[in-house]
Amino acid sequence: MRMQAVRLNQIAKPLEQAQVAVPNIGASDVLIRVAACGICHSDEHYRAGISKVDRLPVTLGHEIAGRIEKVGTEIKHVAPGDRVCVHYLAHCETCEFCVRGLEQFCRSGQMIGKHRDGGYAEFIKVPGKNAFVLPGEISFEVGAIMMCSSATALHGLNKTRLKPGESIAIFGFGGLGFSALQLAQAFDCDQVFVVEINTAKIASIETLGAVAIDANKGNPVEQIMDATNGKGVDVSLELIGSAKTMRQAIQCLGRLGRAALVGLTAESMSIFPYTELINKEVEIIGVSDHLAAELSTLIEFAQNSKLHFPPDAFCFVDLDAEQINASLDAFRNSIDHVRTVIRVANDV
Ligand SMILES: [Zn+2]
Ligand SMILES: [Zn+2]
Repeated sequence: MRMQAVRLNQIAKPLEQAQVAVPNIGASDVLIRVAACGICHSDEHYRAGISKVDRLPVTLGHEIAGRIEKVGTEIKHVAPGDRVCVHYLAHCETCEFCVRGLEQFCRSGQMIGKHRDGGYAEFIKVPGKNAFVLPGEISFEVGAIMMCSSATALHGLNKTRLKPGESIAIFGFGGLGFSALQLAQAFDCDQVFVVEINTAKIASIETLGAVAIDANKGNPVEQIMDATNGKGVDVSLELIGSAKTMRQAIQCLGRLGRAALVGLTAESMSIFPYTELINKEVEIIGVSDHLAAELSTLIEFAQNSKLHFPPDAFCFVDLDAEQINASLDAFRNSIDHVRTVIRVANDV
């Protein structure tokens, strides 16, 4: 059996339409008929060669939801016809990290849609353990995109050990920030401050029940300190990826504050250890990816509408190389957080 796929054949060249074989599955795999696949900024980095892929050609796409088509003989938790979303890291389960539930560091971990074929296709084969049941209340497009940015936002919050009643400052209101705000509220936190520079985004922050900190109007650290009577926040989440905002995320903390750094940058950063760290017993925490064990909480929040995406948060394209390439091109100058999703099949 053959299927349509959109593949990366050559670095720094447009993706190409291809007819490839529908993958055969092993005993521990499932075959999913893809319904929706998010187009992620990382995919643009793979295409451009900024982030290296191991082998070519490869089918991109790691934000995947669809219906189970076939299951291997060992798979019991899902059956053909079930709606599922996909955890994007295929891991070994036996290395020293996997046995501790830290599969993001798996010695032989493979990112779906980078190290192995992904969801820009009609069907995808994944290890059965990577398929999570997607409740009927959650659309395929939400199921697809929440497996990347929302999952990483949740992991960031988990790393900060945010507790009910604590305050948080989120730096950046893109895809991650949009989820982080809602997830922080789902954790029953106290005030949420969101630092942003884009005027249109600042307006939408207030409608979600958070306090917008307009970085155009002066130092965000001073604004947060003023708003908290000089106390600072308990937790901060840096999602932008700049040394400047990372410093601010540390400086806006109060005593025993925890700053989680999620955004990527090649810049270095300096801090004053005595006044900014030691005196206050502040912690700076690196955040990378997320864990399969966190996804059930995420799915539950989405099912209970604690994590929700308005219909205008999405635009759709077909499983068509030209349309997908145009969406990847748009990442270079896009500042809004409308997510493009490939609609592969209408509710299959
Ligand atoms: Zn992604
Ligand atoms: Zn492993």
